[in-house]
Amino acid sequence: MLDELAHIGRDPATHGYVRDAWSPADLELREWFGQEAARRGLDLHDDRNGNLWAWWGDPDREPGVVTGSHLDSVRQGGAFDGPLGVVSAFAALDRLRERGFAPARPIGIACFTDEEGARFGVPCMGSRLLTGVLDPDRAIGLRDDAGDTLADVLRRAGRKPSALGRDDETLSRVGVFVELHVEQGRGLVETGAPVGVASAIWPHGRWRFDFHGEANHAGTTRLEDRDDPMLAYARAVLEAREAAGRHGIVATFGKVRVSPNNANAVPGLVSAWLDARGAAEKDVRALVEELSRGQRVSEESWTPVVDFDVPLRDRLAGVVGEEGPAPVLPTGAGHDAGILASAGVAAAMLFVRNPTGVSHSPSEHAEPDDCAKGVEALADALEELAR
Ligand SMILES: [Zn+2]
Repeated sequence: MLDELAHIGRDPATHGYVRDAWSPADLELREWFGQEAARRGLDLHDDRNGNLWAWWGDPDREPGVVTGSHLDSVRQGGAFDGPLGVVSAFAALDRLRERGFAPARPIGIACFTDEEGARFGVPCMGSRLLTGVLDPDRAIGLRDDAGDTLADVLRRAGRKPSALGRDDETLSRVGVFVELHVEQGRGLVETGAPVGVASAIWPHGRWRFDFHGEANHAGTTRLEDRDDPMLAYARAVLEAREAAGRHGIVATFGKVRVSPNNANAVPGLVSAWLDARGAAEKDVRALVEELSRGQRVSEESWTPVVDFDVPLRDRLAGVVGEEGPAPVLPTGAGHDAGILASAGVAAAMLFVRNPTGVSHSPSEHAEPDDCAKGVEALADALEELAR
């Protein structure tokens, strides 16, 4: 199945994937999901927010055991982040049928829309709308790089923007959710296990720093006459790195906008975005506070820690472990499973080993043997939960 998807949205120059939500590539992937569901005789449900659900059994009779992930990508992303979870969901369902398993509860496969937020800047858009944590009025007004709003884009895809919003009917069908995902670090490499279980998603946030100065000529303005905001920005980048080490967290300035952005001018304004994450909220907050002193800073997003359901995660670790329980480890990356968990849905995640830990890059990788072990583990988990 991953081979079938390999050509969709692939940049021929870099081999990276560009699968923005509602782009032609994304529509093709949605089409593929529908075909895979039909091939297995599953009932397809395209919900109000554009999330796709394929059901084996009737979830209106009893809430189901749901697995799945997303098919969109970051720009220049890898082949596994998202698709591995969707493909493994279909493959695990096939394994259950090969085993002759007759589920006592309905089993569902989900594909959440716009998980990465590559186009409109808000990650986990589909699950945030579904659970009501994202205001639909804010969502439909978000603009992409071309200046189109989400409302424009949805209309063009033949959908009704007014349908967006919290969807209790769809949510009530989800009894428990298990998302399989390629690991985005080297935690499993260190433990030597091909599959692990998530303990928590680190609290994380995004802040915009505006460093103001005075734009002026790079040749004629004497050093002592300058008010150069690039220097304050440079200091902040170094401070972030130093403070992150001191607090035992991660902090990144990965996006910067310089105005007027001329090679021969002292800038007048530097805006930079800080992403900071760590195991404990207090450490993340302390770093942001230290860096904020004397600066104009606005918090653009904040996601509190997600602690996955402990009995569920321990039960799954026992079921999917090869010799003894599978490793249980936290992640610094956000996921739809985390959004559902925060909304009160019993949720868990399985990670498949990533030999280099690299993700959000064309060189993201998982070995075929490990992917196959992930499918077996997911099938075992579904069998445990749906029997
Ligand atoms: Zn993902």
